[in-house]
Amino acid sequence: MPGPEKVPLDTDVAWIHGSPSPRHLSDPPLQVHHLAPDTVLVRQSKDLTYEAPFILLLLGEDRALLLDTGAVDGAELRATVDRLVANHTATRTGDTAYDLVVAHTHGHGDHVAGDAAFADRPHTTVVGRDRTDVVAHFGFTDWPSEVVTVDLGGRSLEVFGIPGHHAASIAVHDERTGLLHTGDTVYPGRIYVEDPTALLDTLDRLVAFAEQRGVEHVLGCHVEMTRRPGRDYPLGSRYQPDEPSPFMTVDRLRAARDAFRTVADRPGIHRFDDIVFCVGTGPRVLVPLQARALVEQVRWRLGLLARRPST
Ligand SMILES: [Zn+2]
Repeated sequence: MPGPEKVPLDTDVAWIHGSPSPRHLSDPPLQVHHLAPDTVLVRQSKDLTYEAPFILLLLGEDRALLLDTGAVDGAELRATVDRLVANHTATRTGDTAYDLVVAHTHGHGDHVAGDAAFADRPHTTVVGRDRTDVVAHFGFTDWPSEVVTVDLGGRSLEVFGIPGHHAASIAVHDERTGLLHTGDTVYPGRIYVEDPTALLDTLDRLVAFAEQRGVEHVLGCHVEMTRRPGRDYPLGSRYQPDEPSPFMTVDRLRAARDAFRTVADRPGIHRFDDIVFCVGTGPRVLVPLQARALVEQVRWRLGLLARRPST
């Protein structure tokens, strides 16, 4: 069913993607990009953390939602968010406080490391990282399938549980822009599957939701693929000159679901064109990942990547 006209997103961005060696570090700590006037996507630098997560800020009339605080100390992110909120509220009338909710796509360390920097921020709620905290904050009565509405003031978000990678993973849908944020559950990279049964159900629900709501963009927190089908950058990569966009289509979400169905019951690393599923945490997954990571780290430190062609 066609809804109201969506605010278009500027997703054509050249993202910072790390530096070819420790002697070439040149990325700023954060890249801040306005996808739309009140929709901001931030990437943390690979020079600071190989995780280089994406962090989303959605601003409404009465409050804002920050999804994740990144993989390093949050002082820089806090200053950035304060500036963005100040700009957004500069023309606001009335004297009610403008609130900030700091929530997480899920509770893994590379998404919550900056939380402490927000603890003393006025008019701010930092949601805890466990499922019980998430359920309590959003008021779920039927986790994970219930779709809860969050009102930012003139901007309505929908939130539901998407366990499988992490027990407290949530998806956030921004009706205004047609953006569905899937955290570390679906993105162009390695999906680490903690609970295959939960992920099968999650992917079914994500696809059904996206189809029903007319989702236009699917976004995750990382990029680990190259533009070569089936080829990911090694774990821990500090330089990704040939990475694809973090934005995906609903078709690709559907393809990810279909792909996962074929491998869900087989522990190991399963490569598809634009996604890799790592099922389980046994040696079949960890040994090849860590071996590649070690080689990549040595090459990066020696400056060998600086000479490598970008494909
Ligand atoms: Zn992550």
